Amino acid sequence: MIYIDVDGVIRDLCFGAWGNVEVTHWDFEVNGKGIVDTIDANPEILVKSPPTEYLECLSGLDHVIFLTAQRPNWIEFTHRWLKMYVPIQWQAIITRGPDDKERRLVDGDILIDDYPGFKSFDRIALLDRPYNRHIDVPLRITDKNGFMEVLRAYA
Ligand SMILES: [Mg+2]
Repeated sequence: MIYIDVDGVIRDLCFGAWGNVEVTHWDFEVNGKGIVDTIDANPEILVKSPPTEYLECLSGLDHVIFLTAQRPNWIEFTHRWLKMYVPIQWQAIITRGPDDKERRLVDGDILIDDYPGFKSFDRIALLDRPYNRHIDVPLRITDKNGFMEVLRAYA
């Protein structure tokens, strides 16, 4: 089974929150506020954030399952965003965070995600971002072709 993360993969929350800044590490802050606090202060950011270039890679699939960590007060906004942008049938599994995501993955599964702190990357296709470039992983996606290859191999 293939699972796809939302934030940092198909939705650009950082752009929605901060505009065009280079987010160089996971705990990045602007004016002393991280991404979570910035969004909690203004959850409409979740709806207004633009898609990334990878959203269009989904259009050839019949169905997609998102595996995404969303705070309880974010869920309805994220559902609104997914309804607005995802052109195919989708299902969203809401998790509490990376540990919860990892627990759901079994042999043969792959999760396309951008998070640099998973315990193991054996079932992760890491989407290349400046904040995860320092880690060495078995599978890194650096462009749309790479994304499509992972979809073809697992979907
Ligand atoms: Mg993410």
